[in-house]
Amino acid sequence: MGDILETDIKFLPGVGPKRAELLQKELNISTFGQLLYYFPFRHIDRSKIYRISELTDDLPYVQVVGRITHISESGTGRNRRLNALATDGTGHLELVWFQGISWVSRTIKPNVNYLIFGKATPFGNHFSIAHPEMELYIPNQEKHWVGIQPVYSITEKLKSNRITSKTIMGYIQMLLQIVNGKIEETLPPFIIEQQKLMTLPEVLKNIHFPQSSVLLRKAEHRLKFEELFYVQLSILGRQRDRKAKVNGHIFTHVGQMFNRFYHERLPFLLTEAQKRVIKEIRRDMISGKQMNRLLQGDVGSGKTIVALMSMLLAVDNGYQACLMAPTEILANQHYESVTSLLGNLPVSVGLLTGSTRRSERNTLHRSLEAGELQILIGTHALLEDVVKFNNLGFVVIDEQQRFGVAQRAKLWEKNDNPPHILVMTATPIPRTLSMTLYGDLDISVIDELPPGRKPIKTLHYTDAKRNVVFELMRDQIKKGRQVYVVYPLIKESEKMDNLKDLEDGYENIVRAFPPPEYVTVMVHGQMKPEDKDYSMNLFVQGRAHIMVATTVIEVGVNVPNATVMVIESAERFGLSQLHQLRGRVGRGADESYCILVSQVKLTKESRKRLETMVTTNDGFKIAEVDLQLRGPGDIAGTMQSGMPFDLKMANLATDGQLIQHARNVSIDILDDDPMLISSRYAILKKQLSKIEFRQTDFSGIS
Ligand code: ADP
Ligand code: MG
Repeated sequence: MGDILETDIKFLPGVGPKRAELLQKELNISTFGQLLYYFPFRHIDRSKIYRISELTDDLPYVQVVGRITHISESGTGRNRRLNALATDGTGHLELVWFQGISWVSRTIKPNVNYLIFGKATPFGNHFSIAHPEMELYIPNQEKHWVGIQPVYSITEKLKSNRITSKTIMGYIQMLLQIVNGKIEETLPPFIIEQQKLMTLPEVLKNIHFPQSSVLLRKAEHRLKFEELFYVQLSILGRQRDRKAKVNGHIFTHVGQMFNRFYHERLPFLLTEAQKRVIKEIRRDMISGKQMNRLLQGDVGSGKTIVALMSMLLAVDNGYQACLMAPTEILANQHYESVTSLLGNLPVSVGLLTGSTRRSERNTLHRSLEAGELQILIGTHALLEDVVKFNNLGFVVIDEQQRFGVAQRAKLWEKNDNPPHILVMTATPIPRTLSMTLYGDLDISVIDELPPGRKPIKTLHYTDAKRNVVFELMRDQIKKGRQVYVVYPLIKESEKMDNLKDLEDGYENIVRAFPPPEYVTVMVHGQMKPEDKDYSMNLFVQGRAHIMVATTVIEVGVNVPNATVMVIESAERFGLSQLHQLRGRVGRGADESYCILVSQVKLTKESRKRLETMVTTNDGFKIAEVDLQLRGPGDIAGTMQSGMPFDLKMANLATDGQLIQHARNVSIDILDDDPMLISSRYAILKKQLSKIEFRQTDFSGIS
């Protein structure tokens, strides 16, 4: 027997071939099943009749019973409109039509009661409903819809073919009767029982025509759980698969370099979080499975030392390691800090970037292939085919969201048996998002800053208070500190000259901080590299007091003596960007400031962003707010990964607990039966085969 849900939609009474084609084209509905799973985007509660005096502006759609006391037409052409006044004895409600005026004015009768339905908006001292739904009201008659009614989204094309939300509602009512008793469960009975979920037939009834809002919520809950559960089961299943398939290099011992570094060179005590993460990495390295680990840690949380110590573990076991950074500045900085941290330890470290000279490059290539070079640090240049390792065992990728999947995959291929991979990011991603977005990576978090860091004071001023800002800058400069002033880069399309703000800003600063007493440099992405380096270096060496820049300084620059970050037009920046910029200061022992300068008028969202910055320094909290404000899709976009699947019901921003729960349930099942062989799991296997993923999967080459 075929599955009734696979039946062609044209066989549903009242649909037929022509409408079937429309439904397919416009809503992608071609089967009974697809129609049944075309859920309303909202419901309207028609179980309550409001009194006009009870209306408030925060109510959704409402219905009232009212008698029309007055009808009038006004205006001509586009301004033509029909007004009616309804009353129920408690107040007056205005009804307005802009279209279909002749028809409405012909059919509407004064002095009889109507059931009037629509969204009431306040208008002067009364409420008004535009284009209300109206029907004659007959008291105590069942004819009126009483209950919660579904609303389906419909395209213009469908509307013009007389297929409305009501039409869909009718189809689904009919369909529910046809399939009654014939719907197959999509979750095994034991899960439904354990999780106290609604059964599928009940869910499908209630998601369309809920008997109460409690049942609607139960139906939604089951659908969300099911969706998240299958996503997690699939992600975790594939993660286990990959681990089973790819053997990891085994770093059996902690050797001399690691130990000597730890005892002779480590300039500070590791934080508990750093120790924990190093243990997690170490455990992976001896597991026999290939490591794919994401290390999240706020700016300044000390990821570099973790990377270095992990690389030393590889070196101790006769393997090579490399560290790839997204920019040349960053690669240089890593090289400098790694070599100075290592000091006199006999570990050979090389640097390879776009500006490495050819002769040097050739030497590097040779010693790398010969296995003499143990640690290679660099940029994208590492990815080139000519860069061949003798035995690459461990790869660190810094600021991984700046690299594409293909680039990351290239590093896998640098050894016949893929190396262990550690990707690091200073852009915290909320757990719920990373569990899903990077679900097949193991995640480590450094959630603790090194001791003694003073939290950065964040202040918000409007443009008019610029003098106060200048005062603070002057004060800090007098104390020997340095200042960043950052301007947003305006997109080409918005303004002819996208550096104008920056240049104007620079002039203003120079006027307020005149040379020779003060030295101000300007840095932006469109400068010649040598000019940029020159200006940067003046600042890095402490010879310039102020650096006026675009967001080019977002990543990498490390000037511990800089204590003030002024962000101009702060309302234009996203939260994570503001947080990244703020991370440029507070790197030394001195009190640091982040000053957000904005215009007075702010949108609700930008106000929330600035408030969040002022109230917290915690990158994870900021990431949570960012997720609430922007939504998961948008964030996944900036992570250059995109969402690997669509969620229809669940929301990564608001269903965090449910995601964690669904993940735990999946883990229990996979622990019990990794291949889902038991008949108890047959339904799971069948459903999993239906899940489609986009190929944006992180470890997409396995
Ligand atoms: P990020 O995580 O942003 O890459 P870094 O690794 O650059 O952070 O570390 C920031 C600064 O903190 C560096 O100057 C580093 O030497 C210092 N640091 C790292 N770990 C510790 C620690 N446990 N105690 C004190 N200072 C530390
Ligand atoms: Mg770093």
